[in-house]
Order: sequence, then structure tokens, then C-alpha cells
Amino acid sequence: AVPPSSLTYQPVLKRIAEEIEHTPGRGRPADYIPALAARDPRAFGMAVAELDGTVYGVGDWREPFSTQSITKVFTLALDLAREGDELWEHVGREPSGNPFNSLVQLEHENGIPRNPFINAGALVVTDRLQTRTGDAAGELLALLRAESGNPDLDFDEEVAASETAHGDRNAALAHFMASYGNIDNPVPALLDQYFRQCSIAASCADLALAATFLARHGIRADGTRLLSRSQAKQVNAIMLTCGTYDAAGDFAYRVGLPGKSGVGGGIIAVVPGRCALCVWSPGLDERGNSVAGVAALDRFTTLTGLSVF
Ligand code: GLN
Repeated sequence: AVPPSSLTYQPVLKRIAEEIEHTPGRGRPADYIPALAARDPRAFGMAVAELDGTVYGVGDWREPFSTQSITKVFTLALDLAREGDELWEHVGREPSGNPFNSLVQLEHENGIPRNPFINAGALVVTDRLQTRTGDAAGELLALLRAESGNPDLDFDEEVAASETAHGDRNAALAHFMASYGNIDNPVPALLDQYFRQCSIAASCADLALAATFLARHGIRADGTRLLSRSQAKQVNAIMLTCGTYDAAGDFAYRVGLPGKSGVGGGIIAVVPGRCALCVWSPGLDERGNSVAGVAALDRFTTLTGLSVF
């Protein structure tokens, strides 16, 4: 297929939304905290942001949702920008083949998590960003506000409090890594930063725009550079291989783009040199990825021919 001119994104999005509307079986919203369980599994939105900041959208594309693990991409970028390759002494870059909140590999690998996008790895990244900035979640929020152009983006304190109340597994991960010396900050302070990070509410439009620096090879919306070209390539590569946890192989097979999901039902994806996307639908499959979200991105790359392959 021929890559579309920007004018043709809107019909493609409309067609995908219609197809999704008629697809039965949307999965189930995450139910480990009430705020996520309450979302309508039939909600669906999708946005495409071009390199110049032009955004196209369909459905609930302006509706804020809980970003959750999508934020792991942005904290990784922020930390990589500050400390560079030293980060890789503390977290790996291999797909885990395990669920996002798995503990099992940590003991065999001396408290070094497999990659920055499973929870253990994201805790390490947030810990390191916290040490360097004193306010990891605040740095993240500032980045998301600036790149999306939406100054109203904020933490959802109810979601953050709920995560804290149900945070035993993340606490276990953090304490376990701390026992190997791979966590700097006191665990409760780290968890506070991590849960606030996960709680940020944003829409498909916000997140597609916020992810565009990865399509611009590291250049931010204001023209300054956040990541080197090589680092932007690295982040995209890790999204492709690790961004959807133990479904990353299937996601690459179906979608063929770097992507990162969150249990709020959002997924961001990047077409390097061209655009960034965000899709949202709260119903998840058993691996924690949005059912309609993956299906919509699958259709997008099939209909447009845009993929990294
Ligand atoms: N806050 C969630 C957690 O840490 C995020 C998980 C996710 O989005 N996959 O368990």
C-alpha cells in the first residue's frame, strides 16, 4: 500500500472506528482498582499526530483516561537524556516473556530487571530519575504538558491513592531490588513517585502529540533535542520488543510498530519519521493490552502500509 498523504488519515480513522464498533468481544477493563474497573469497555478513541503537531482523531480521542504504563516510555526518555548509557548497568533491554508485574526473573538476574517497561524495570528508571531530579513524577508531568501542548494534564490523586492501597506487588518488586542495591531511594518514596507517574490522566490527542518526539528522532515540539537520534532509535526498539510485555511478539507481528500499552487501555505507537499514534479502549486481554486498541493499530498499519517493516 502507498503511505497516505495527511489528508487521508481522517477516512482511515473513520473506517477503523466503524470496524471496531462492529467487533464483538472487547476484553475487560482492569479491575485491580475501582477507578479503572468503572470505565465503559465499549469506549474507543484513536488519534494520529504528524511531525508538525497536526492531529487527527476519531471517537473518544479527546477523553482523558489513565495513562498507567504508557508513562514508562517518557520516564525512560527523561532518564536516558540525563544519564545516558549508565542506566543500562541497572536495567536490561531484553523482552521478558513474562507478565508486566512478574517477580520471577529478578532473583536469577541479581535484581537487574529485564527491561524498562515491565514494572520492575520502570521502578528502577523512576528511582534513578528521582535521584537525579528530586521529583521524577513532576519532571514527567512537565514533559507531557509541554509536548502535548496541554497545560491541564495532571495526576489523578484518586487513582494514585488507590494504587498505593493495592500496591503490595510493586512494593515487593522494589524491596527485592533494593536488597540487591539496585534502588537508591527509600521504597515508600519511590512507590509514591511511581504511582503518581502511573496516575496521570491524558487523552489520545495528548499522548499522540507527546509521543511525536520519538517520530522526530528525539526532537521536542519546541525544536530542542531531548534524545540523540541514536537514543530515540533505542527507545523505539525497546518499545517494539518489550512495550506490550509477553505479547510483544504478537504485537510486532500484527502491528509492526514500536508501541507501549497501559492497563488503562491506552497504547501509543510510533512511525519513525512520520507520525505518532494513540488508541484507547479500556477492555484488556489477559496480558493487559487493550483488545480494540491492538486491533485498531493492526488495521491502521494494514490499511496504510505504514510500519517499520
Ligand atoms: N500501575 C500499574 C502497575 O504498576 C501499571 C501497570 C500497567 O499499566 N501495565 O501495576
